[in-house]
Parts: sequence; structure tokens; C-alpha cells
Amino acid sequence: MILRRLTEHVKSQNWFAVGLDFLIVVAGVFVATQVANWNTARVERAQERQYLLRLHEEVSALVDEQERDRADVMARATRMEEIAAYLNVFGTPAASVLEPVGDHCRAVITSHIYAGNITLPPTINELISTGRILLVSNEKLRMQIVRFAQAIDESGQLRHDIQVDRMVMSRKYPDLIQLSPINRDLSACDFPAMAGSQAFRNDYLDNMPRFLAYADAVIQSQQDLRRELHAALDAELSIQHEESAP
Ligand SMILES: [Zn+2]
Repeated sequence: MILRRLTEHVKSQNWFAVGLDFLIVVAGVFVATQVANWNTARVERAQERQYLLRLHEEVSALVDEQERDRADVMARATRMEEIAAYLNVFGTPAASVLEPVGDHCRAVITSHIYAGNITLPPTINELISTGRILLVSNEKLRMQIVRFAQAIDESGQLRHDIQVDRMVMSRKYPDLIQLSPINRDLSACDFPAMAGSQAFRNDYLDNMPRFLAYADAVIQSQQDLRRELHAALDAELSIQHEESAP
């Protein structure tokens, strides 16, 4: 209709009207484009919020689920360091105050087990693999999510590396360690004999730094990252919890 009117105005050489028609067409296209842009932005903001809410659910659930395992692994790491201190002072008066107990035996027989959870929240995987990570408009948060995924990759690689050549202590030292057929916590360790065996000491002190690296750089650092991401998501989504995260 505008085109027919424009043709009539050109025929009648009404240049003012031609200019006006032209402006109307340009303005119409401009407004339509703006409306489409606003609509797209609105849809993207809604998608972003949905993704972040879902990620918040996953991360906060992981923090809660993994806290017991994290505490157990860190406690085992501490028991292992106490055993190293015991080996160090064995035969001196200081040895009596460091006498190992059942928890220490469990730490020895599980010193080759690095089976904790290394988990990438499914929403992070989806955001990155589909490129929708670009929907996250807060650049700092976006980088934090990407770094989380990188850290998970690195944790997996580290765990793989520290497992190479690790020693199953109870298999190599059956005279020093008697596994309980009922419950691993009831297994028996002959700590004085362990302290007197240089072969045991060497193998134990080879396993220990592997376990400490696993505890610190795989288990604890993952939980730290989850907590940091949870706090960032709380801030971004204006979520408040009744009690602060542990
Ligand atoms: Zn939260």
C-alpha cells in the first residue's frame, strides 16, 4: 500500500511526500527491529535465569552431599600425617603420646583409595557444550563457571596421575595388617612392627603424599569451588538462605 502511494507520489513528482513515505518505511523497519531485539533479550534473560537457578540447585545439593565424604577424607589425611609423626619419633620418649589407634589403621589400609566424587554439575556441561554459557551476562560469573569445569578436568587428571604405582599396603604387608572380614574399621595394624620395617616405611611414605594431594587438591578444592560458586549464584540470583553455608 505504501509502495502504491509512493509510486503515485513519484509520478506526480511530489518529492516532499516521497521523502515522507521513505521516512515512514525506514522508521517502521527500525521499530520492528527494535521490538524483535527487545523480545530476544527478554527471552535470553529468562533462559539465563532458568539455567542459573538449575545450576544453583545442583551446586548447593553437591555441597551438602559431599560434605561427609570431604570430612572423612580430610580426617584420614590428618591420621596419615600423625602416623608419619609416629614413625618419625618411634623409639623415643615422644612416641608414647602419639600411639596410633583404630582410625590410624583404617588410614593405612585405605591409603591407596582415591575413589571420591569428581563431579561436573550437568548444567555446566550443558551450558558449555551448547555454547549457551554466553547467556550468562555477568562476565565474572561466566568465567567462574568455565574455571569450575577446567578444575574438574584437572582434578580427574591429577587423580589419574597419583594412582600410578600406588601401593595396596594390606596386600604387601599381611604380617603387619590383618584385615577384618566383617568391617574394615575392625582391622588390626601392628604399628611398632611397621615402624621397625624400613620397607613398610618407604611404601607408606610413598602413598602418603599421594593421599594428601588427593585430599587437598581433588576433594577439598572441589568443595571450596562448589561453595564459591554457590555464593556467587546466591548473589547473582538474590537468594538468601536462613543459615549461612557451613
Ligand atoms: Zn544458595
